[in-house]
Amino acid sequence: MPGKELLRKIPKVDEILKNRAWEKLVTDYPEGLAKDALRESLEILRESIKTGEAVSMPLIEEIILSTRQRLTSLMSPRLKRVINGTGVIIHTNFGRSLLAGAAIEAVKNAASYYSNLEYDVEQGMRGDRYGHSTVILKRLTGAESAMVVNNNAAAVILVLNTLAEGKEVIVSRGELVEIGGSFRIPDVMKKSGAILREVGTTNRTYKEDYERAIGENTGLLMKAHTSNFKVKGFTHAVTSEELVDMGRQFGAPTYFDAGSGLLYPANERLLADEPCIPTELERGLDVISFSGDKLPGAPQAGIILGKKIYINMMKKNPLARALRPDKLTLAGLESTLLLYLDKKTAIQEIPTLRMIHTSDVALKKDAQRIARILRSRCANITVSVIPLYSEVGGGTLPDVVIPSYGVGLRPHLISVEKFERRLRSLSIPIIGRIEKDMYLLDMRTLHKSDREPLISGIETAIGDAE
Ligand SMILES: *Cc1c(COP(=O)(O)O)cnc(C)c1O
Repeated sequence: MPGKELLRKIPKVDEILKNRAWEKLVTDYPEGLAKDALRESLEILRESIKTGEAVSMPLIEEIILSTRQRLTSLMSPRLKRVINGTGVIIHTNFGRSLLAGAAIEAVKNAASYYSNLEYDVEQGMRGDRYGHSTVILKRLTGAESAMVVNNNAAAVILVLNTLAEGKEVIVSRGELVEIGGSFRIPDVMKKSGAILREVGTTNRTYKEDYERAIGENTGLLMKAHTSNFKVKGFTHAVTSEELVDMGRQFGAPTYFDAGSGLLYPANERLLADEPCIPTELERGLDVISFSGDKLPGAPQAGIILGKKIYINMMKKNPLARALRPDKLTLAGLESTLLLYLDKKTAIQEIPTLRMIHTSDVALKKDAQRIARILRSRCANITVSVIPLYSEVGGGTLPDVVIPSYGVGLRPHLISVEKFERRLRSLSIPIIGRIEKDMYLLDMRTLHKSDREPLISGIETAIGDAE
């Protein structure tokens, strides 16, 4: 068996350590780590000889080179930038919202310096961690009080546990939503210690359904925004006003899980179906919660707004400590919210809002510009400018599509599937989609600094070298 012969020829570690290339390697990397990586390289070589994959012995320099590649990969972060060419703006897999410049600056400051996170500078004593964001949240929404937790899932748990532990929460069967893989309202409710009392049917729930269920053990009347799907046709849901009426009549608090939510009144066709947070509060709901990193375009956070008496109870709940956000989140959130003081600034500066509002005419120009550069730089590809549809994503506005533009790419020397794989394996991976044998990149979700790595990435990927 030729493999056995080859196995004996694997160089000894001592011999490799004497090589000049090794000396260079250990000036670039920690020696202990380099030796571990070398052992791994040799183990892989041994395995590939045994399986018959390797039929000749690599040079010592080649073994050292593969060890170097292993070290480079080991020492680079696994969490890295990607280029989002999918046209899905709030893409949960890609980190949802990008932060506005002012928010990035605030995060950097909070990370670099000590801050008054929980210190009242005026009084010279301990202050309120939530105080900073609360001021601006109250101003923007008219809420009596506010609190911020890690994400909206945490908000739902905290609200249910504080207001309805051991009691019934009445909620419409049509709103028992699942958001992403593991967030289901019924499951979260169980964990929070509240008892689910479903009423109505999947498509129709009336005020009377709630009323019939209200009893001695009712802790909370709840509504959830069915943000990521839409029941069409023969439907009826209980309005916020009706919920508030019942709450007053029966003395039970009311809660709306708004999911995403807009922080300003918008009549645009696109956003018409999203609840407007200030309007919902005006209707008299006791508590509302929503995600910071969906439509608000802020960092990941769960924002809880509502009556002071309930928010204070939540702040005192021992769970609050476990669900609280870190200072980087609070800094990014407050700076993003400050931009909303002028709606025009918000739309220009907050990437999520800007991407939603960018016109397809502007995106067509972007696509033409990129197509022109690609045609001038790359021979083996056909480039076209194509009308597409983008989506808001993040489980919001499921049936809204936004007319957009993109580039369609057809490589000549490799299959479109191979091209797509190569784009994903670049050091800054490019993610697009294949439709009818063409690779599509939507311009709407590109960052302005994506253009250069995008073009050079495509250049690299169309080469026929493997
Ligand atoms: C997205 C969403 C959640 C979960 O929010 P996260 O910020 O992802 O934790 C909860 N409820 C509704 C209705 C949602 O749309």
